Order: sequence, then structure tokens, then C-alpha cells
Amino acid sequence: MSNPFLKPLPETGIPAFDQIEFEHYREAFNLGFAEHLAEIEAIINNPEPATFSNTVEAMERSGRQLRRVVSVFWNLTSSDTNEKIQALEMEVVPEYAVHHGKISSNPALFARIKAVVDGGENLKGEEKQLLDETYQSFVRAGAELTDTNRERVNAISEELAGLTTEFGQNVLKDTNEFELVLEAGEDIAGLPDFVLEMGKAEAEARDKPGKYVFTTSRSSITPFLQYAEKRDRREQIYKAYTECGTRGTDNHPIIQRVVSLRSERAKLLGFQSHADFMLDDRMAKTPEAVTNLLDQVWAPCQKRVAEEAADLQAYIQGDGGNFELESWDWWYYTEKVRQGRFDLDEEEVKPYFRLEHVRDGAFDVANKLYGIVFKPRPDLPVYHPDVVAYEATEADGTLIGYFLFDFFMRPSKRGGAWMSAFRDQSNLDEKVHPVIVNCCNFPKSDPCLLGMDEVRTLFHEFGHGLHGLLSNVKYESLGGTNVKQDFVELPSQIMEHWAMEPEVLKSYARHVETNQPIPDELIEKLKASQTFNQGFSTTEYLAACYLDMAWHKEAGAGDGAVDDFEQAAMDQIGKIGMVDPRYKSSYFQHIFTGDHYSAGYYVYMWAEVLDADGYEAFRERGIFDAATAKSFRENILEKGGTVDPMTLYKTFRGREPEVQPLLKNRGLLA
Ligand SMILES: [Zn+2]
Repeated sequence: MSNPFLKPLPETGIPAFDQIEFEHYREAFNLGFAEHLAEIEAIINNPEPATFSNTVEAMERSGRQLRRVVSVFWNLTSSDTNEKIQALEMEVVPEYAVHHGKISSNPALFARIKAVVDGGENLKGEEKQLLDETYQSFVRAGAELTDTNRERVNAISEELAGLTTEFGQNVLKDTNEFELVLEAGEDIAGLPDFVLEMGKAEAEARDKPGKYVFTTSRSSITPFLQYAEKRDRREQIYKAYTECGTRGTDNHPIIQRVVSLRSERAKLLGFQSHADFMLDDRMAKTPEAVTNLLDQVWAPCQKRVAEEAADLQAYIQGDGGNFELESWDWWYYTEKVRQGRFDLDEEEVKPYFRLEHVRDGAFDVANKLYGIVFKPRPDLPVYHPDVVAYEATEADGTLIGYFLFDFFMRPSKRGGAWMSAFRDQSNLDEKVHPVIVNCCNFPKSDPCLLGMDEVRTLFHEFGHGLHGLLSNVKYESLGGTNVKQDFVELPSQIMEHWAMEPEVLKSYARHVETNQPIPDELIEKLKASQTFNQGFSTTEYLAACYLDMAWHKEAGAGDGAVDDFEQAAMDQIGKIGMVDPRYKSSYFQHIFTGDHYSAGYYVYMWAEVLDADGYEAFRERGIFDAATAKSFRENILEKGGTVDPMTLYKTFRGREPEVQPLLKNRGLLA
């Protein structure tokens, strides 16, 4: 049988999922690696003097065969993996790092790039940006180091690739292995129907019919902690969650090794710490700029979280409880106080957020802002029966690209939600339209009713999706979400604002049974409750940001026991005991599964400054103001990484961003 990876992509750009077999990957990777290296050799051996076109642009054209298999494989390791794929992943990840290292540390190739930099061609705009980024990526990979040091940097990156992959697999293993199995009766007291349904479905999927199973995945544990009356059961599942990565597996030695390898690599490259190294390539530029932002939010947020803790403790006492508030109580008593204060419970809200309605609401916002139309294409091949394919077109019918929605959780999918691309947009030799995917982990049921967090998640990932779809650049490596890491959350987070606008809610939030729009009174309650519990959520998030920075900024961070280091980092910022960081180190996948988000968990807050301030522009001029939407599309969404992000932002907003709107939105202004 012929290997679909060895053929050009179909016209749609969607991989031939209906023809891909497991056996095709290995062959495609081997040929992809070889072909890419041959292309690079040809660039190096070109007898002509190095020019932008015959070197940098030629590199941009290289590696297409490899990208075809990589884009499918990397997506499936996250969204539909199995033991065979995991085994191959362990094999391929280090190989890929070696392959990448062969190119990024090739002295002859670097010499040609440097010659282009020194050559004085009159490059402008996107071409100049591509040259700068290419040159910097070589320097950051060690191109200017001695042979010995460069080899060491490569060896470190290779070892890190393996370690961080293992870290993620350990988290998945521990997450899948834990199950809280409950019988009907006292143990399930307090759980509303939608939580019980979820527990029942999970039990059936795990061959335990008639029982209720809850897991440590976020969608399962959060509602359980919110409603389960039995305190010891909450404690049991919460502790299981915080033991992830240390229960059946042990991520601690991996963390220590990763942290010291990253530090060693940063020093070889001339940086004081891994944080300095990572931030040099971001909008924030320095660890100090990050700490400065975190501190500005941390102080008001500590005041607020102390007030919240006192409220919860008062509720406990008033309820006849004779114990101190602990981490596993937070969600439960917050829900009680919320209901008391706002007379609002998730169960009342959820019938208005049927998945299909929310999805159409997101499509509708994109249509009102940018004129885009999404049309289902059930005829197109997908990688799992739950995935739905859409065609996205401009108002005049011009094709923009294809968009896949993959909503439901399953054991083969990692936790969380994300956007990814099967193909990036570009316009080098021909117009290449993008193929974008959004993955979520909503519990599968019919109807599937979303909680408010899940509604925001859907809009958030859809925002990333638009960034990928509306990309309008020449070079693929500068397109879509290929932007500085602390800029990438702006398009996603700004979308969340529309999800909560009364005008928008009225149109998509319709009752699952009556189809009536959500009543004004409920919208009022939702609005009033938006800043509720922000002390807690801001604290758990910021604590994780500080923890990330501590691991990657402090000398010798990997030398001692992981628990001790974590405790010391939390003591240093004066965090209150009953709020844990959103992720503890042993399951902090953002920073230890892959390098990408290390010293970078702060990016959501950085981007929130931008999205809060940016959305103010829409508030000022009208949330669907055509000129503002056009400016946001042209200056932010279409530009990818072709222009410095602060310049892009200032062009859109007319000035630098301000932190006040963020504090106001979170209710943290005094
Ligand atoms: Zn995001």
C-alpha cells in the first residue's frame, strides 16, 4: 500500500486521515529527515554567493516532506494516542531533536546566513524579519559557540526532549490510573444530575456499570470538588490530583535533571539563567519585566484572597463545621457562598449552554466581526469519529481554510484544550490555505451542556483558531500563531470577552429544552459573579507563575528536594497555605512537558494586560464596530510574527497597553 505521507496533500490541505496507517509514520519520518538534510546540503553547496533568496528563502521551502508527517504525528500524540504511537513518540522525539540540531548547528549553513546578514541586501518588512529570526534562532541554538560547547548544547537539547516527553507521559499515566469509584448513597450526596451523569458515563466506559467514577482530569474533578458533600471524598480525590506525577510514576528526578540541564545550556549560551535565555526571545525581554507585572497584580490579589478565605471560614462555622478551611474545601464552599450571594448555580446556567449553541455563538461572533462563514463539511476525512470539519470562507465566498473541532474527552487525548495546525498558511510560491484544529475535553453526552469555564475555553481556543485561519503572510514560519510566546494569547483571550457580552449571550445562550434566550436576570447574575472568587483564581495562577520563574531563575534550583524548593518558593511570596499553585511541579506540564512554556507560564497574564486593554477599544467604539474589527484583523490577526508585537499592538490601539483594565476586570482595584 502506498504511503499517503509521501504524496502531496489533497487540495483541501487536510491530511488523508482515511488512508494513514500506523506503519506509514516510521517510513515517512525516515524519508522526511533524509530529504530535509539533502535540501539543506544543496543550499550549502550552492556555488553562487549566499543571498536571501538562495539561502533563507530556500530554507523556508525545505523540509516539506517532513512537515507533512510531523504535523499529523504531533497532533495525534496529543489528541488520539495509543501505546504504539507513544512508543514511536519516545523514539522519534529525540531523533527529531538530533535532526533539528544537525541543521541549527551546521557551521556551513550558519556561515551562509551570516553572509546574508552582512551582505547588505536591501531587505524590508517580512523578508528582513525572516532573516533576523533565522539568524537569531541559530545564535540561540549555539551557532557562535566553540565546537565543544555547541556539541554540549545539542546533547542537552536532545536529553531534554526525551526527559520532557517522559514527564508528560507520566502525568497521563497517573491521571488515567486513578479512579474514585462510588456507589449510590451517602458518597454521592450533593452531586447534581449533570455531575452524576458524567460519573455514570465514566463508570460505563471503565466497565463498572451502575457505579459512579470520577477522575483527576479537570472536567471531572472540578465539579466533584464543587458539589460533593462528603468532605473525606473531596480530600481523597484532591490529594490524588496533587500526587499526579509522583503516585505510580516519579517526576521528581526528571524535574531536577531538566532544571539543571536548562541552566547549564543557558550559561553556555551566555545567559545568566534559563529564564533570561527564554525571555530574550519574548515580548517581555527580561525576568524583571515579568516579576514586575506579577508583583503589580499579586499585592491586590493577596488582599482579596484573604477576604475570600475569611468568607468561606465564616460559612463553615455558620454551617456548624468545626474545622479549618483546606485546599480541597475551596471549590465546595465557594459554590455555597456564590449561591448565597448571587443565587446562581451552575445547574441553572448550564441548560443555556448547549455545546452546539455555544459553538454557533463563536462562529457568529467571527461572522459579525470579520464576515467569516463556517460551513460543516462532513464529507472530509477526520482523524477520529468525534471530529467535525468546517470550511471557512470570507463574506464573498473566498476560501480561507479548513477548521476541525474536536470537542470531547477520551483516554487517548491529553487533558486541557488547545489549538493546533495541520497546515499553516503561507503565500510564498503559491497561496497555501491553513488547516486548523481546536481540541477540548468536554465530557461526551447528549445534550452536552457546558459550564461557564468551558464556554470561555471554547471561545478562547476559537480565538487561537482565528489567528491561524486569518493569517495573511508570505512565510509559513512567521504566520498565524508563530509569534512571540507572550503575544500568542492575545487573540484567544480577547475572544472570551465577546462570550460574556449580554448582546452576544442573548443570541447564542438558548435553553436546551425551550430554546428561549437566557433571561436578563440570569445575565445580570453572571456578570455580578464574574469577579467573584478572583482572589483565589488569580492566586493559584500567579503562584504557579512565580514557581515557574523560581525553577528557571534561581541558581542551583535542581540541586535539592523538589518539595522543599517548591515550599521555599511559595514562602518567599507569602502565599496562604490553603491555596495551592494551579499546578504543582510534578504535574506542571506547561513548563516540564516540552521547553516551550518554560519560564513562560506568565504569558497568559501578560497577554491579559493586552486583551483587557485591547477589548476596551471595542467597548469604547462598539463591540462589533467595523473599523475596530478591521484594524484588529489587519494589525494583529493577519500579521503573525512578521512585525515586532509591541509595534503591532500600538498600531492597533494607538498607544502602549495599560494594566488598569485587567485589574478592573478581575475586580482587584481597591
Ligand atoms: Zn491559549
